[in-house]
Amino acid sequence: MKFKVHAVGGAMAGMLTIVTAQVSGYTSASYRHLIDFLNAPHMTQGDIPVLIGLFAVTVFMSLFPDLDSASILQRWFYRFALVILILLFMVGQMGLFAAVSFIILLPLLHKHRGWTHSKITPVLLALFFAVVLELHRSTQAWFGGFSMENVGAILNEYWIYVVACVLGHYTHLLLDWKL
Ligand SMILES: [Zn+2]
Repeated sequence: MKFKVHAVGGAMAGMLTIVTAQVSGYTSASYRHLIDFLNAPHMTQGDIPVLIGLFAVTVFMSLFPDLDSASILQRWFYRFALVILILLFMVGQMGLFAAVSFIILLPLLHKHRGWTHSKITPVLLALFFAVVLELHRSTQAWFGGFSMENVGAILNEYWIYVVACVLGHYTHLLLDWKL
């Protein structure tokens, strides 16, 4: 039951993230872009895939905190996560593959309503994600090792994803507190 409430809350927060991306100018998707995308949904370029990604990150983060307890949500989540990992592996996105793998293991390490329900969790997760991406990049690069400056640059460039993380996560905390 609570899963459904969190899913609905997450979807509403996801719409809010989309509005934020559009109003702030991070994306400028139009009806025309949507039609183009629907005609060629395999295309990963353009603003519509970005908005879908943002919506997915928000919903993901609104469900994430409760992955710390055995539930139907948990089982379905890990099935879905496996598909995502396979896809990332197949397209050679190894940095993202590593970052997603680490993140989805974390809720299993602690008790229910432990750290996953903390207010600083979404910010720390976004930081952790960027650090893993930068670590991966530094192992691939011919020169130039890991630098926190690059981590900052990643977070700066993809700030809207951090907003999506926080919005989704806080929607979960709000609903836990209200219910
Ligand atoms: Zn919860």
